[in-house]
Amino acid sequence: MKFDTKVVRAGIVPDPHTGSIVPPIYETATYVLPEVGRDRGYDYTRSSNPTRQILEENLAAIENANFAISFASGMAAVDACLKLLKSGDHIICGDDVYGGVTRHFDKVLSHYGLKFTYVDTTDSIAVRSAVQPETKLLWIETPTNPLLKITDLEAMVTVAREHNILLGVDSTFATPVFLRPLEFGADIVMHSTTKYLSGHNQIIGGVLATNNIAIQEKMKFIQKTIGNVSSPFDCWLNLSGLKTLHLRMQRHAESALKVAKFLESHDKIESVLYPGLASHPQHSVAKKQMSGFSGMISFELTGGTESGKKLMNNVKLCGLAESLGSVETMITHPATMTHADVPLEDRVRRGLTDGLVRLSVGIEDVNDIINDLEEALEKT
Ligand code: PLP
Repeated sequence: MKFDTKVVRAGIVPDPHTGSIVPPIYETATYVLPEVGRDRGYDYTRSSNPTRQILEENLAAIENANFAISFASGMAAVDACLKLLKSGDHIICGDDVYGGVTRHFDKVLSHYGLKFTYVDTTDSIAVRSAVQPETKLLWIETPTNPLLKITDLEAMVTVAREHNILLGVDSTFATPVFLRPLEFGADIVMHSTTKYLSGHNQIIGGVLATNNIAIQEKMKFIQKTIGNVSSPFDCWLNLSGLKTLHLRMQRHAESALKVAKFLESHDKIESVLYPGLASHPQHSVAKKQMSGFSGMISFELTGGTESGKKLMNNVKLCGLAESLGSVETMITHPATMTHADVPLEDRVRRGLTDGLVRLSVGIEDVNDIINDLEEALEKT
């Protein structure tokens, strides 16, 4: 199957009992066994559930992975991946990642003996020099949240293989429409399915995908043991959203480029970060490894933080909201919202200023999005 066909059809067959073209929601906790010691493939929904299994097959297919495991949230997926490690292990993590990830690493997992070093992963020399004998995982986001840095996957695979380190890629911003990290040699891909993969702001979810059966078995064991699973109803909603992923992403990307160009030419805008603009510091890496640049833009206003806040308080169509990757355009102030828990000095070090505005460009008419921004910019 070609990619667009996989998105709509992979893992989905008409229901054998009724012919229903849409898979049923198996909203059940348990399953009656025909006899002691034999089940029909399912015994308890924490271990496995038919609706979840269909979602997992679909997600594996579009990521070009042998396996995918669906979790209750993106953070639950990150946590399950980190549980592959043990106390004393060292992790190299990109220095610009979602604030909830650093909160989890620094405020929770560090108490269990895991050690973290944050590195600018656009610099492969810096990544290589951060490797220690205990390093077991290299964790990156590309594009990053919120500075939209692009990491060269080929370079990261080289470092990871040289030192026998697992490479995990949070590909939430790119989606498998534009980037499939396993095809570059990454070991694990993670998504917050809350975002583009479900696409309609209805669910919280996450997924890990891999080609490595030993990793899959461990992650499945962790999921079954801890129970951080996605509910059957959320899996069903996710499957519905996925069917239009390829169409939505094309529109997100087309509109984002237009909005980024509009912002770049506006005299009240100081700087714009969008991987599809020639001015983006890693534009050439993005062009090399991605087939599109997705729908996320970050920018700063000439008037700094106060003007940025005025803009966010004056938009009407764009929703001032924490999330991203949905059909509705959403605007975010990372310093007080998604990355509020990142200590000020870390934010300053990584270039995440108080004036930074993040925009998740939706699939409304792009002229309405631009007009909304233009009118709000007049009030700054
Ligand atoms: N990774 C990225 C890049 C994110 O933006 C987010 C959430 O915003 C997460 C992971 C966490 O996902 P969730 O909110 O589904 O737990």
